[in-house]
Amino acid sequence: MKKFNIVMLGAPGSGKGTQAQLMAQEFGLQHISTGELFRKQIASKSALGLEAQSYIDKGNLCPDSLTINMLYDYLTHFESAKGFILDGVPRTIQQAEMLDGVGMSESLNVDLVINLNVPEDEIIRRMLERAKLQGRSDDTPEIIEKRIHNYFTLTRPLEDYYQKKSILSQVNGMGTIEEIFEEIKKLIENKL
Ligand code: ADP
Repeated sequence: MKKFNIVMLGAPGSGKGTQAQLMAQEFGLQHISTGELFRKQIASKSALGLEAQSYIDKGNLCPDSLTINMLYDYLTHFESAKGFILDGVPRTIQQAEMLDGVGMSESLNVDLVINLNVPEDEIIRRMLERAKLQGRSDDTPEIIEKRIHNYFTLTRPLEDYYQKKSILSQVNGMGTIEEIFEEIKKLIENKL
């Protein structure tokens, strides 16, 4: 059966990971976070993890083909899933094109794209707060700034990319977790 796949877009700190988890539970979809996959690879000290770490610790994005190949490898574990919630991927136009099959031997259908909209000053505030709480190695102020810059220059253009395909929905990311989730639930129910 064809899967129902959702892409979550939003800045780092927009809350997309939290919403993706709730969506996965509610709709029985498989949550896939490339950030988490990379962190697992780093923890297990695999070759892929070591390569990824050199980018992540500097606040850079990992190379597109490394990311998409890791993603496709991982997706093979979930052949019977109803669908995926992609959290943190695609993050560049090239990654989106790769998912669409450009220059690749496989592709992944994207049925709905949800962009969680949060103003930039709020994003910075949330990321600095999270840095204090979680102590992630890529959560220092300079690196946070770089990640936010990368988001605006490399990831934000994806809104246009998916808008043109008429599958983009905007959700206001300012509100309680429950309020935002209610909005998202309606969007998904309309599409299922
Ligand atoms: P954030 O909290 O910034 O959204 P993630 O946990 O999603 O971070 O990802 C952490 C890091 O992993 C990113 O800063 C980036 O270096 C790398 N990464 C995750 N997903 C991708 C991707 N799709 N393409 C390239 N790099 C990625």
